[in-house]
Amino acid sequence: MDVIIIGAGPSGLFASFICNLLGMKCCIIDSLSSAGGQCTALYSDKPIYDIPAYSQILAKDLIKNLLLQIEPFNVQFTFDTIVQFLQVIDDKVHVKTNTKSFTASACILASGAGTVSNIKLPLPNLEKLQHKIHYKLENLQKFKDKTILVIGGGDSALDWTLCLMNIAKTVYLVHRRVKFRASQFSLKNLQPYLVSEKCKMFTPYQLISANLNDKSDDLVHCLLQNTQNDSQIKIDVNYIIPCLGVQQAINTWNLQSVGNKVCVNACTMESSQKRIYAIGDTNIYENKQKLIVCGFSEATLAAYHIRQNLITKHHKFEYSTSAYGKILSNVNE
Ligand SMILES: Cc1cc2nc3c(=O)[nH]c(=O)nc-3n(C[C@H](O)[C@H](O)[C@H](O)COP(=O)(O)OP(=O)(O)OC[C@H]3O[C@@H](n4cnc5c(N)ncnc54)[C@H](O)[C@@H]3O)c2cc1C
Repeated sequence: MDVIIIGAGPSGLFASFICNLLGMKCCIIDSLSSAGGQCTALYSDKPIYDIPAYSQILAKDLIKNLLLQIEPFNVQFTFDTIVQFLQVIDDKVHVKTNTKSFTASACILASGAGTVSNIKLPLPNLEKLQHKIHYKLENLQKFKDKTILVIGGGDSALDWTLCLMNIAKTVYLVHRRVKFRASQFSLKNLQPYLVSEKCKMFTPYQLISANLNDKSDDLVHCLLQNTQNDSQIKIDVNYIIPCLGVQQAINTWNLQSVGNKVCVNACTMESSQKRIYAIGDTNIYENKQKLIVCGFSEATLAAYHIRQNLITKHHKFEYSTSAYGKILSNVNE
């Protein structure tokens, strides 16, 4: 492996494209379960107006296009994996994650505002319930005629409850407080469903245990407890959707940094440690702008610097058009 890229946000995705264009093999590690970084996790349906050649583009479509652009290269993605440790020994960067280790000639930190991960349910048997818990709703048909438990009091809990109302058999909405943080608009929209019993709301309750049914793997027995008087309610559901928010953790990896941002040379994106580069929202230098387009430019500078200084393979400079043409014809052969 030539380059390990940490972060599959827009900067990391474009870095993988340039690395491949320059003939370097790279992999991408991300703590989330899909690519896109902030664009996907925080504002996938928001239009972006400052991407060159697009008068406007939805954040999710920008990510879709970036993925399409790297499709010919079969970039190796490792999702749901948190990088915990970086170390340069001799001429190699060693990256340790919560599951495995990676080694390469260089590492590009494209870790943005840090790991963004869903706050998990505080249950001891989460692993056994994995297939029953969904933090992200994809393939809504899976929930058709099923009984769903949605947990949370914010906008996403309400949005998902409303969204599932026309698909699921019953939706239980559980919140540990009586008052919801969600918008009045969503709460008002929910009212007709509460009367129809399509949706049952339990407040102030929290889920204190969930266990798979011994006989049928399809049902989860859930125990809800009133947070004020400790009374309990048992319900059986097919799926649990926790909407407890996201948590962010920033790491500057013992590199020279200012306020959680990694200091880099503005010409090369190299950090205080040779072989480690930082691009996108994770770095800082004079006149730094936290914009996607700047992340793209920084990805390009880092990749070229790595190719010219750290990779010993013979390399002849070519303009991207001819290099890409050759790569595509190799891939298609
Ligand atoms: C609401 C909103 C609107 C915005 N609108 C615009 C706009 O219109 N135009 C614009 O140019 N910019 C906009 N931005 C800013 C833009 O989204 C960021 O500049 C951009 O996402 C930065 O990209 P990135 O790839 O550097 O980092 P990110 O998008 O933050 O991606 C970083 C990735 O790294 C992963 N990661 C971090 N640490 C680790 C670790 N230890 N292990 C594994 N993975 C890790 C994270 O999970 C994440 O997926 C907006 C931001 C927000 C919040």
